[in-house]
Amino acid sequence: KQEQYRKLKTLPSVTKDGVEITLQINAGLLVDMPNLDETAAAGIGLFRTELQFMVAQHMPTTAEQQALYGAVLKAAQGRPVTFRTLDIGGDKVLPYMERVEEENPALGWRAIRIGLDKPRLLRAQLRAMLRAGAGIEMRIMLPMVATVDEFLRARFIVRRELEMLEKQQRPAPTSLKLGVMVEVPSLLFELPEIAREADFLSIGTNDLMQFLFAADRENRRVTDRFDPLSIGALRALRGIVEAAGETGCPVTVCGEMGGRPLETMALIGLGYRGFSMSAASIGPVKAMLRALDIGKLRERMDWMLASSDGTASLRPQLAALATEL
Ligand code: PEP
Ligand code: MG
Repeated sequence: KQEQYRKLKTLPSVTKDGVEITLQINAGLLVDMPNLDETAAAGIGLFRTELQFMVAQHMPTTAEQQALYGAVLKAAQGRPVTFRTLDIGGDKVLPYMERVEEENPALGWRAIRIGLDKPRLLRAQLRAMLRAGAGIEMRIMLPMVATVDEFLRARFIVRRELEMLEKQQRPAPTSLKLGVMVEVPSLLFELPEIAREADFLSIGTNDLMQFLFAADRENRRVTDRFDPLSIGALRALRGIVEAAGETGCPVTVCGEMGGRPLETMALIGLGYRGFSMSAASIGPVKAMLRALDIGKLRERMDWMLASSDGTASLRPQLAALATEL
């Protein structure tokens, strides 16, 4: 199998009926960067910046952050990198930061919530990113955004940093695309607005599924009861890709769901054309999609999603369909 995946590396990521699917990888440290060449992925669809903070003994300085982002961009050699601003708090605690005790850390003071309430850290990070991105097309996305208002407030902070850079006549990115992670269900009810405001959407299915089903993503006793291939989850995911399509807002999937071949097949059937996944998933996913006929898949999935007989999951039906296509 490994040998078979290696052979696929040089072949295009295109379905049997000629539809191009963009495959990118997730990363978090400089050591992940060789995976780009090893997988021949199109770029880094999610760079988890909190990793640098989690492995450090002290709060990384702005200069240290900038050095990492610069090195990452250099290693990417022109391929796009989407940097996500800090997703700390909750279960991701930093040893050198004051610990806030919370009953429900996953639902607590984390990610963009910290960034908006105490913007100093966020602003320093944005400054590091924008400086590292001098002269290139920069891509930044925001985690755990729950409302359009939060996105707009964060964008205000981003724009101010960009203006400051220009005022100081420092080299700035040639352009900035500011995207949002879709991973808090409340955002599903503001889809037209967020798709209009954000430059791109990236679905964090790990958290989205956790919150959609109210099931801790780390607790096997509950996560395994709810299937991302259930009709409710698939309808939610279809709503996102449709809303994005209506406003022409690019959308990709960066959660683990997009790295599992059967799940990815279902997502392609819903209309998704871009995925970012762990490097090890690229081979299996590419093998699946190169054998895929989207026209047939789409028709069958529309039919499956039109009505439900109350089954917990469409997995068996989709698995059967996978052998047919
Ligand atoms: C997600 O939630 O799906 C995601 C990609 O982000 P993380 O796993 O870092 O929370
Ligand atoms: Mg997440």
